[in-house]
Amino acid sequence: MMVRRWWIRLMIVGLILGIGVFAAYRLYRWYRNSGTGSNNYIVEWLTDPASHEVLKSEAFSRCPNAPFILPTEGFIGLLWNDASAPYSFTSRHTGLDIFGYGTVGTIPIYAVYEGWLTRHEDWRSTVIIRHDDPLQAGRTIWTYYTHMASYDGDTSYIHKAFPAGIYSVFVEQGTLLGYQGLYNPPFPIAMHLHMSIVMTAEDGSFKNEAVLANTLDPSPYFGLELDADRSTSRPVECVE
Ligand SMILES: [Zn+2]
Repeated sequence: MMVRRWWIRLMIVGLILGIGVFAAYRLYRWYRNSGTGSNNYIVEWLTDPASHEVLKSEAFSRCPNAPFILPTEGFIGLLWNDASAPYSFTSRHTGLDIFGYGTVGTIPIYAVYEGWLTRHEDWRSTVIIRHDDPLQAGRTIWTYYTHMASYDGDTSYIHKAFPAGIYSVFVEQGTLLGYQGLYNPPFPIAMHLHMSIVMTAEDGSFKNEAVLANTLDPSPYFGLELDADRSTSRPVECVE
């Protein structure tokens, strides 16, 4: 009799544990996939070319009174402050992901605004430009552009005018910087440009771009609603 009770208790404990694990897994899935639904749109963009007519933005386009031009052609997929996977509510996207369509290394990327370009010695796929903030006089901000290399990182798609190890070279708004690539460890997803606006550190250098608090909401610079907490449908539209 005692032995049977012991087994029954063990089965009940096992059942409760199983339900708990299953619930935790479901909660984790919900947590990873909730947010803006950006990934649904990105899948649509990548799998259904008919969607491009609605979703595509043009390089060089600019909303009324906005200082920045769009840096590249494609779909503005992941937004700033976006919690969609591979990001999450506790680790949000720090910039914009603009997904081109076509051959890797062929879709041009342009400087959003005039400034001074730096490419560190060990940067395969990245450049950063320092700007006098057009929206706040006296402040210095930076725009960061990355993934401009092949999947394995061996071929850089940064324009040859900007070799590794150059510092503070003046560029006009609209200067060709390079081409969209795939280099994106550890998440080499579809070809896109990741671009963010980074704040300046005490010592005058740029802050760590991977941290949301070190970046600025790009919305007022582009005149577009680009904060994922406020923008729920696509394509993003100019703010009136
Ligand atoms: Zn990104």
